[in-house]
Amino acid sequence: MKNPLLEPFDMAPFSQIKNEHFKPAIEESISLAKAEIEAIANNKEAPNFQNTIAALDYAGYQLDRVTSVFFNLNSAETNEHIQKIAQEVSPLLSAFQNDITLNEGLFKRVKTVYEQKNSLDLNGEQQQLLDKRYKAFSRNGANLPEDKKERLREIDAELAKLKLTFGENVLAETNKFQMHLTDESDLAGLPEGAKEAAAQLAKTKELDGWLITLDYPSYIPFMKYAENRELRKKLSLAFGSKGFHGDELDNQKNVLKIAKLRFERAQLLGYATHAHYVLEERMAETPEKVNNFLQELLTKAKPAAEADFKQLQDFAKEIDGIDQLQKWDSAFYSEKLKQKLFDLDDETLKPYFKLENVIDGVFKVAEKLFGLSFKEVTNIDKYHEDVKTFEVYDANGDFLSLFYADFHPRPGKRGGAWMTSFKSQFRKDGKNVRPHVSNVCNFTPSTASKPSLLTFNEVTTLFHEFGHGLHGMLADTTYPSLSGTSVYWDFVELPSQVLENWCYEKEALELFAHHYETGELIPMELVQKIKDSATFQEGMQTVRQLSFGLLDMAWHGQDPTHITNVKSFESKAFAGTQLYPETPETCMSTSFSHIFQGGYASGYYSYKWAEVLDADAFAYFKEKGIFNKEVATKFKDYVLSKGGTANPMELYKKFRGAEPKIEALLERAGLLKSA
Ligand SMILES: [Zn+2]
Repeated sequence: MKNPLLEPFDMAPFSQIKNEHFKPAIEESISLAKAEIEAIANNKEAPNFQNTIAALDYAGYQLDRVTSVFFNLNSAETNEHIQKIAQEVSPLLSAFQNDITLNEGLFKRVKTVYEQKNSLDLNGEQQQLLDKRYKAFSRNGANLPEDKKERLREIDAELAKLKLTFGENVLAETNKFQMHLTDESDLAGLPEGAKEAAAQLAKTKELDGWLITLDYPSYIPFMKYAENRELRKKLSLAFGSKGFHGDELDNQKNVLKIAKLRFERAQLLGYATHAHYVLEERMAETPEKVNNFLQELLTKAKPAAEADFKQLQDFAKEIDGIDQLQKWDSAFYSEKLKQKLFDLDDETLKPYFKLENVIDGVFKVAEKLFGLSFKEVTNIDKYHEDVKTFEVYDANGDFLSLFYADFHPRPGKRGGAWMTSFKSQFRKDGKNVRPHVSNVCNFTPSTASKPSLLTFNEVTTLFHEFGHGLHGMLADTTYPSLSGTSVYWDFVELPSQVLENWCYEKEALELFAHHYETGELIPMELVQKIKDSATFQEGMQTVRQLSFGLLDMAWHGQDPTHITNVKSFESKAFAGTQLYPETPETCMSTSFSHIFQGGYASGYYSYKWAEVLDADAFAYFKEKGIFNKEVATKFKDYVLSKGGTANPMELYKKFRGAEPKIEALLERAGLLKSA
């Protein structure tokens, strides 16, 4: 029997693939990739850029294709079998990756080329690739003597365990708490749906009345709507003190151990701190730069945050006689104030955003900016009948990319929205191999009586993912590992976030935001309301985000060996960012999973960083016209097509003519008016 995944294929052969094809295809592709890598490592010729660095980048092509089909399906159209196979093949794939990083013969060759780099006459892209390849080894300890390598492995193993324990404790703390209410008046203010959910939850635990927990779907509505201030306080303190109760689920020791081990690891590898280690491969480059960035933004956003706080405090005083606003009042009064200031709900906007119109709109925006055209095709193999397929052509009419669009929820599709690809772009043997890009979302589906009508949030999500999609479609690089969205982490959201800006512009909305029944264009006062409500309390939000970034940098950007008290260390890091009275019962660090469990250590700043980039980039469009060809072409030539072939700051400067400045974000976020 033929395995379609092991036959050469261009478009993913979905209709021929059966579950039992995956595992053997992945195993055989790993063997093939291993043989390719061994051949590079054992090459009798002296190592040079082509036979080592470039060869490594092209190796494992079949494995890439097969695993991208497999893991994309595991996200968008999975089932028990696929999930089980994923469990089985994941260790094989990480073992394969480890084999490469630990291959000393291979590293020797890479290092030889790296050491000659100044005499090799490499172009910019090749230098980038050489750097990337070399660092993949050196950052994992390939240059260390055996005893230090051993210590590095110990640290990595210990860190992996600690991160797991940290996360398990947060989860256990979340699950442990429950607020059982038996008096209906305690739920006053909650919308019917939230009340029903609370009653349902109580029922599943065989309790009468209502149950409120620390899970977001339960916690958020209660904090937003419950009129009982004491109960909000109780819930808020429980939420804020996860991992901070001095019991077996306490995370303070874990936090200290993680910070100290990361520091030791960084020092072992020759870096001053963990942040120096992480930021070496980021656009922001150094902890100093990140700290300056956060501080500058804080100084400029603080007056707006204080004004927001005063407005909220005055409002709470006026309607409920609250003298001192507390953390547990924040969501409650913000929601009420927001309703008072903007009566804007999804239902009013949705008729203007029929899915087909929005897709057509985003295509038109891409056409006006980059000259792209999209042709829906029906003869392409797809993994589900809901998936739409398009051929994308450039301004010359040349084929650019295949585009899969999969918009609605299904059992078997995970939540959220993402861009991915089934095939990356690269050049080889004089051929420019074009990519197959995909957007997967979970938008409101159509019903028997109504087409799919999107909320405004879904509209911006569609533009966002399509922005990532353009980064993939317009890719034009030589080496696959530098292509498309393979860029530094704090740069990858620029194309996606910048595209969201068009959703707020009259000239763009005119292209597609027409009422699905009457054809009437969305009234501009509605658009203005959307804009105004988007900047509601932006000062407070910004300062809150900055406080998290500063805490992250405090833990990772300095020597943590002297730290003994998590709470007082945290309070010091938060100094200058707090608007509400301090609560000694709570601690952020002990449940800050982003940085102590997930991959955001020394990276939390990147949320704001990306916003600064996209606001600054869009300001350039605004200045010259949002469909200005010259600006769009620069964006395509220097950002979208370049992937990771050059330092992102260099690329950005070529596009913009200068480094990004924070002013455009301050302006867009409405942070200047109260300064
Ligand atoms: Zn994104």
